[in-house]
Amino acid sequence: MHTDDNLRRQYLDAMGIPVWERRALSVAPVADVPMQRTSAPTAAVMPPPAAASPDWAALEEAVRSCTKCPLHSTRTQTVFGTGNHKARWMFVGEAPGADEDAQGEPFVGRAGQLLNAMIAALGLKREDVYIANVLKCRPPNNRDPQPGEVEQCESHLIGQIELIQPKLIVALGRHAAHSLLKTDLALARLRGQHHHYRNIPLVVTYHPAYLLRTPSDKRKAWEDLCRARAILQEASTA
Ligand code: URA
Repeated sequence: MHTDDNLRRQYLDAMGIPVWERRALSVAPVADVPMQRTSAPTAAVMPPPAAASPDWAALEEAVRSCTKCPLHSTRTQTVFGTGNHKARWMFVGEAPGADEDAQGEPFVGRAGQLLNAMIAALGLKREDVYIANVLKCRPPNNRDPQPGEVEQCESHLIGQIELIQPKLIVALGRHAAHSLLKTDLALARLRGQHHHYRNIPLVVTYHPAYLLRTPSDKRKAWEDLCRARAILQEASTA
């Protein structure tokens, strides 16, 4: 089987999407996802953008030197965000974990590998999208972000969204959804709805770490991503 097909199969498998094989053919028809060359689902650290604009540089420095909440005293380093500064898709997670704190890049651990698979199953590469977190510093022992920390960190995420101006935001899990939508509704109530963050369409789905613990919900996460893709396609043809 061709390498691209193998990769797509891995991504769709990782997302729990069944791949049906026709016995007579060596190449299996797969779910309706556009074919595209994709990078391996590894946690590769991406190079920084070639030339950061002054705004990006200022925002990165503001994050790097931030001491607004107590998390600065326990972090190894800040975890700014990564990806395409002109991305149409922006994924927002919760907070760095141990791997991200060590490497300085969001979603590089096991949850990151699943996020890469989710992105690849959409026919995109990690470097096509932008990935950031609500918090830029790791909470000790991976505890939940506290409201004060989210509040102090909010201007950093707002700055990133304003600079990127994505066409769509995917909120990964309840902390991202609550922070962006200023709600405390349960994730079950927020999924399946078409939200907006400052006029930008926003879709809520499960956090990849939750999906690692509950693989039976991967199918629903895939439905969320397909809905997000449809929203984006509709917006670009409107
Ligand atoms: N979980 C998150 O929410 N963000 C990361 O960067 C890694 C794990």
